Amino acid sequence: MNGLRVMPEETLLPPGSTIGILGGGQLGRMLTMAAARLGFNCHIYAPHGDNPAFAIAGTATAADYDDETALAAFAGSVDVATYEFENVPLATAEFVHEKTPLLPLPNALEVSQHRANEKAFFRDIGVRTADWIFDEDVDIVALHAGEDLNRGTSRGIIKTCRMGYDGKGQVRVSSEKELRKAWQEMPGELIFEWEVPFSREISVIGARTSDGSIKCFDIAENTHEFGILRSSSVPAQIRSATASRAREIAARVLAELDYVGVLAIEMFVVETDSGEQLLVNEFAPRVHNSGHWTEAACATSQFEQHIRAIAGWPLGNPARHSDVEMTNLLGNEVDNWNSHAAQSNSVLHIYGKNQSLPGRKMGHVTHLKALSNR
Ligand code: AMP
Repeated sequence: MNGLRVMPEETLLPPGSTIGILGGGQLGRMLTMAAARLGFNCHIYAPHGDNPAFAIAGTATAADYDDETALAAFAGSVDVATYEFENVPLATAEFVHEKTPLLPLPNALEVSQHRANEKAFFRDIGVRTADWIFDEDVDIVALHAGEDLNRGTSRGIIKTCRMGYDGKGQVRVSSEKELRKAWQEMPGELIFEWEVPFSREISVIGARTSDGSIKCFDIAENTHEFGILRSSSVPAQIRSATASRAREIAARVLAELDYVGVLAIEMFVVETDSGEQLLVNEFAPRVHNSGHWTEAACATSQFEQHIRAIAGWPLGNPARHSDVEMTNLLGNEVDNWNSHAAQSNSVLHIYGKNQSLPGRKMGHVTHLKALSNR
């Protein structure tokens, strides 16, 4: 990181400045919409493909992440850059950051892009995760996990260390034989995790500015189907002490990474004799699907919060005016747009993608409900 540029703490980008975004998906599109409301221009950079953010950005560059000429032109045209996709190659982020401030700093990508690095990061800052084994030798993994698996008391999950998302690159195993088979068949570096017997999955979306101020949105409770987020409900049905602990973990992670922008942390809630325990699953150094409800239910959405943080503005108010349930519209579910549009308490958001594929995130709908006391 030596020699790389960090935006001076006193920098406050005025409206009219240009924000560069690496990645052209729906998150880039929603960031662009939020930036536009504050008077910023956006320049999106993404490889060729179906990039829904291109349709609404003032400037768009379709080029590969290793095209240094295009990247240099992009960096030269923006006042600050950010990313909406955690698998932007680290080298791309560092290249851009040498030329213009890139926030969050590339270190957040470096940690989150490799599951073993991420687990070690959590361990080193005293945050509990599922138990895990990272070793390239399957015999070592089998030595530590095989007996317990064969006893049938617990199961494991093998995950690819890189490029896993929406449950891709994961295989569940219940015996040493299955472990060895999956290990042989899966590509690249692998990590073994013990399956967590969670009662709920929650996420915290938090933001931090360069002067260290932190604000978190209320905690969402998430359901997944086939590894893909299906719905997020707020408030999460957890004890207030658990919610406080989840926020503390988020604040710790944000501070340890010297993070600027919005970050999401996914956690498992486990019921134990001594109450609810939290185990962190992973973090995403970006705005997150489980925070889409903030657009419909908060004065400041996660998208605006991210733009504010990277532009050096004070964070906005993350308070929620309604209880919510956000549901993803996957694949051709988006064809039902007219029934969602007809519901007065629903806020519909469609991403404008060219092609609908099974399981592809095409939009979401946020159902607003009366605010409860939680
Ligand atoms: P990930 O790609 O790590 O976010 O995993 C996708 C989903 O798989 C999570 O949201 C969980 O529902 C499930 N999952 C991942 N890791 C574990 C684990 N160690 N134990 C139980 N479920 C898991």
